[in-house]
Amino acid sequence: MSGNPWTNQEEARLLAMRADLIDFRVIAKELQRPLSSVYAHHAVLKARRENAGTAVRVVGRKTCVKNGGPGEAKPRKCLCCGHEFPSAHAGNRLCYRCRGQSFSPFEIRV
Ligand SMILES: [Zn+2]
Repeated sequence: MSGNPWTNQEEARLLAMRADLIDFRVIAKELQRPLSSVYAHHAVLKARRENAGTAVRVVGRKTCVKNGGPGEAKPRKCLCCGHEFPSAHAGNRLCYRCRGQSFSPFEIRV
């Protein structure tokens, strides 16, 4: 029932088995969960996965800080005009002049 939460391990197994095109009925038996629950949870996981891409892009600034490090300041070429400028961090890809305009590099990519 819904009062029986899925563990990360079960979710990973469900996704792995689906990736191998294993039938939902077999997965349900394997995970000892009702078929309907396996179906429903797989849909949830798929949706979550698709949303994850957008979520990463939405928090792009934070992700970039994590990857590049906030202190990683170096000259970068502006994505907009190609002009080299002192960039504050890896997520900072527009020169001051272009950033003055009303868009961000994250919005351009969508
Ligand atoms: Zn520029």
